[in-house]
Amino acid sequence: MEFTNKRSLKDLKVEGKRVIVRVDFNVPFKDNIIGDDNRIKASLPTIKYLANHGAKIILLSHLGRIKSEEDKKTKSLRVVGQRLSELLDGKVVRFVAATRGPLVEKAVQELKPGEIVLLENTRFEDVKNGELVKYESKNHPELGKYWASLGDIFINDAFGTSHRSHASNVGIASNIKNSALGLLVGNEVEMLAKGIEKPQRPFVAILGGAKVSDKIGVIDNLLNKVDKILIGGGMAYTFLKAAGHNIGTSLFEADKLKEAKAYLEKAGDKIVLPIDSAASRTFANTKPTYFETDIPDDHMGLDIGPKTVELFNRELKNAKTVIWNGPMGVNEFSHYAVGTKAVAQQLANLKNAFTLIGGGDSAAAAISLGFKDKFSWISTGGGASLEYMEGKILPGIASVQNK
Ligand code: ADP
Ligand code: MG
Repeated sequence: MEFTNKRSLKDLKVEGKRVIVRVDFNVPFKDNIIGDDNRIKASLPTIKYLANHGAKIILLSHLGRIKSEEDKKTKSLRVVGQRLSELLDGKVVRFVAATRGPLVEKAVQELKPGEIVLLENTRFEDVKNGELVKYESKNHPELGKYWASLGDIFINDAFGTSHRSHASNVGIASNIKNSALGLLVGNEVEMLAKGIEKPQRPFVAILGGAKVSDKIGVIDNLLNKVDKILIGGGMAYTFLKAAGHNIGTSLFEADKLKEAKAYLEKAGDKIVLPIDSAASRTFANTKPTYFETDIPDDHMGLDIGPKTVELFNRELKNAKTVIWNGPMGVNEFSHYAVGTKAVAQQLANLKNAFTLIGGGDSAAAAISLGFKDKFSWISTGGGASLEYMEGKILPGIASVQNK
């Protein structure tokens, strides 16, 4: 589904208005340290645009999952607010350690044009007095209404949660008069549409990673759109097993075997599976042993092998559109990052091709390998881009006003 009919931030007059922006500050975060600030950086164009146009900016985001009061101690957005301030050359970002109530309302009331307030992690609303209530994640009607009451305009600039119907996106959008997509989400939607709705051919999809059950559904829709689907990573072994191969102790989802078989039958030669693997006896960064197609009982496949790299490279060589979701192996282990690196390199080499990566781990791998500028687009939303590719409606985007 395309979303080209959605209002953009630039269609609205924001001067002097209270603008609530749902941003995606869900960064890798441990011991109060931000592992990677790409998502914060990705939200800067919208924030700067609003500041330069005299909006009163109210930022909302989640950070991680909140399942207990204990979780709240390690997932405050305070540090993220500090980083945002640094990225804005020291501009003040007023952090409010609350998600609703008098402190929030006072901070919003005191906002002057161009100023920024950041509220606490929206998912703190998922736990009240130790009880898992999921007001944010289940879109409790009172919460969306309350947040909407803080502003005049709602902007969705959090692509990473656009496939979810939460209070901080759908809840606010359905309780406010004016809403629009932010600049990041606008770009995401445009790029996905370009890649998937009007692809130049040959059009090749590469799927990998570990989450077979999350990703297998995308194949159904992709089979109707692409010329080839290359499957690598942990995902491949459920398919190899379905094709009758021995996969040893490789990652395997038994309850997806039937579905995998059905896709293989339907796809004919459209689905391309690995023909060799780099394998190990244990899940560790050991020196790999290589096997062609069948893996002995005491080994697990942790990466595509060199022959598969060659095979995939041949399929990719003439591609004009490539979408990639999921690494080709356990790229956290140097010995098993080879396939992911090779595929990233091959895509980087393509001339005049549209290349799009969706998927948190694959995007992070491509960036850490130094290929950030070599792709046409690196999506900030793995699940959201996948659901888009599946042909599903993204509620966070659908709920925003049309032009
Ligand atoms: P993405 O975030 O790009 O959508 P996933 O989250 O589905 O990708 O998968 C990423 C994970 O898949 C990585 O942690 C990687 O180690 C794991 N993985 C890839 N190949 C294998 C494999 N052969 N066996 C086990 N895990 C794998
Ligand atoms: Mg992932």
